[in-house]
Amino acid sequence: MSKEQQYDMIIVGAGPIGIACGVEAKRRGLRPLLIEKGSLLNAIYEFPTNLVFFSTSNLLEIGDVPFITSGPKPTRLEILRYYTRLAEHYELEFKIYERVEDIRRDGEDYVVRTSRQRSYRAPFAVLAIGFYDFPNMLDVPGEDLPKVSHYYREAHPYYRQKVAVIGGQNSAVETALELYRNNADVTLIHREPALGRSVKYWIMPDIENRIKEGSIKAYFDTVVTRIDADTITLQTKGGDPFTIENDFVLAMTGYHPDYDFLERVGVELNPETKKPSYDPVTMQTNVEDIYIAGVACGGLTDINKIFIENGREHAKLLVADILKKLGRNS
Ligand code: NAP
Repeated sequence: MSKEQQYDMIIVGAGPIGIACGVEAKRRGLRPLLIEKGSLLNAIYEFPTNLVFFSTSNLLEIGDVPFITSGPKPTRLEILRYYTRLAEHYELEFKIYERVEDIRRDGEDYVVRTSRQRSYRAPFAVLAIGFYDFPNMLDVPGEDLPKVSHYYREAHPYYRQKVAVIGGQNSAVETALELYRNNADVTLIHREPALGRSVKYWIMPDIENRIKEGSIKAYFDTVVTRIDADTITLQTKGGDPFTIENDFVLAMTGYHPDYDFLERVGVELNPETKKPSYDPVTMQTNVEDIYIAGVACGGLTDINKIFIENGREHAKLLVADILKKLGRNS
């Protein structure tokens, strides 16, 4: 194996938290390699085009580099530019469009093999794999039709279309409001009796009033049981199934980490909560020298409690532990 393929740590995932781990490692004198299956910051690139983050920009800063934005909260584009600039500034090394297939122990090192039939070697690995590639599925007939998506980009394609938005938390609510304001005919369908408690306080009155005045139709305590080309079938608790006309379905049902990958690497998952086994002080998983960071740490119960602003702290914890193991505490 050539010398270029030996690193101090390999970070799987080049989202904000992967970059935070890389920056922290570089600042502390280590040589990290980040490997990402898509583009740099792939998940953020895939976010809705007009998304404005809930967190203020100071809470998203990494590596003591100020994040100056035109408003108090950054747009998707500002986030992409900031973290890309950060990666350049700290001269991070990346492999992008390269999927990590497996991570195996070989002597003192882990050997990380990728979809491009390449291998990289390091004594430590960090799993900063995010969650945006794995939507929570409805598991109903018709979910595979082309009119169904678990991702929302922009309102324009839905102009004057009958769009069902499924879910009752922030993505569903923001999507429904943006669609409504761009002349789509929106129906919100939520399995609970009311909108979710985590819907931001400044968004809630807007959606409640649009529902009250009837400009967004809403069904609560209701699930979609089947999707067909021109209709969807709904079932309200205690009622009979009924169909409504429909052109598109946007299932804003949340996301989860790649549990299969975590298990393939040897990380134990709680059978009920799917929470990975790791030490919150060091971020080391049950697998010696393999660490976890960001939203991948959250099981079903905690997944929406981990954001960039607290996930970035994982970088400091795990790099400190690696330096301690290397006998370099400074
Ligand atoms: P989420 O908070 O996980 O909400 C998913 C919604 O889908 C919930 O209402 C859930 O119902 C419902 N659901 C899940 N599986 C379902 C199924 N099989 N059938 C029917 N309904 C189902 O996901 P999210 O709204 O996409 O938010 C994800 C994260 O992104 C959060 O941390 C959020 O704060 C963040 N976010 C940020 C912004 C921003 O910064 N501007 C915008 C949007 C979201 P239950 O309520 O019953 O679980």
